[in-house]
Amino acid sequence: MAAPTAAVPQMVHMCESNECGSEAKMKCPTCIKLGIDGSWFCSQECFKANWSDHRKVHKKAKEEAQLREQEKADYIPWPGYSFTGKLRPYRVTKMRTVPDHIGRTDYADHPEGFPASERAIKGSTSIIALCDEDQEGLRVACKLGREVLDVAAAAIDVGVTTEEIDRLVHEACIDRECYPSPLNYYTFPKACCTSVNEVICHGIPDMRPLEDGDICNVDITTYHRGFHGDLNETFFVGDVDEKSKKLVRVTHECLAKAIDLVKPGVRYREVGDVIQKHAQANGFSVVRSYCGHGIHRLFHTAPSVPHYAKNKAIGVMKAGHAFTIEPMISEGTWRDQTWPDNWTAVTQDGKRSAQFEHTLLVTDTGCDVLTRNKNGQPHFLDKM
Ligand SMILES: [Zn+2]
Ligand SMILES: [Zn+2]
Repeated sequence: MAAPTAAVPQMVHMCESNECGSEAKMKCPTCIKLGIDGSWFCSQECFKANWSDHRKVHKKAKEEAQLREQEKADYIPWPGYSFTGKLRPYRVTKMRTVPDHIGRTDYADHPEGFPASERAIKGSTSIIALCDEDQEGLRVACKLGREVLDVAAAAIDVGVTTEEIDRLVHEACIDRECYPSPLNYYTFPKACCTSVNEVICHGIPDMRPLEDGDICNVDITTYHRGFHGDLNETFFVGDVDEKSKKLVRVTHECLAKAIDLVKPGVRYREVGDVIQKHAQANGFSVVRSYCGHGIHRLFHTAPSVPHYAKNKAIGVMKAGHAFTIEPMISEGTWRDQTWPDNWTAVTQDGKRSAQFEHTLLVTDTGCDVLTRNKNGQPHFLDKM
């Protein structure tokens, strides 16, 4: 048996003002705008008398709305992936184009970014000695690469996104008639690599603004008239803690010590011994998954130059050889893992890693650092 329906009483609102108790027919206009329920008042007087308390309701609602917006905007490309450190991926803008008048690499237009010329001799350990003309071509590419890195260095600051750094790098390459070598190399989507904090190498420039205290490596390779020039530096963003400063300084010293060793007759495997000795003496470790490489008309070729000790690298240095040394030194473990973007290499313990790189040409008595800075000093020294 159903009960008779009671007459629905008309909703009566009570004034929100404490101890008022009157019936209320006015609603706060701001609350209406913000979609907040309640907020009835009997009179302007009660509304005004309660204003300092009531406005907190607006503030809270606005903050909550902002949070919801942020969550919507949050980019979570790999739900469930367990990150090793605090860094997260941000949105990556779409790939930029390079005008037709600039000489392109053989992978620039390949759908999978395969470098045909590199793959044709993959596995070969024979190292070519460059003729004078090729040495000159390499020198020019390296000099332009240095100019592009200096453009990036000048832009590094708190609040600047790595996307913005990449845009500047892309344009600086085009201005110098260079194709940015990383672009579409095995489909890498950007003109340079930006590796922040626990990123060891191959970080993809994205919409994350650099934060005060970050360290950020920018790795540039320029392709100009048939030759690649490759270099990188780690930069300080704002005020960096002493531990990170030491990591960056020691990493640069590792590269400098390795370069001092380079001359005809030295075995490539000796490079890693010098680097690891210095890193270890300072309590740091040497990344093993990524090596220096031969470079000239090919971006990556023989020799392979490991940065860790007791490696089995093949080959002996000879005048005319061109290669990079690019030690990646970590605060904690040397072990790396790769984000699901298949590029970003991070430390397995989430601690920081730094890197420096130069392209070197072996001479009769030592080597020329083809990517050196004008004053021979890295940019971070200005902020030590
Ligand atoms: Zn590089
Ligand atoms: Zn390199």
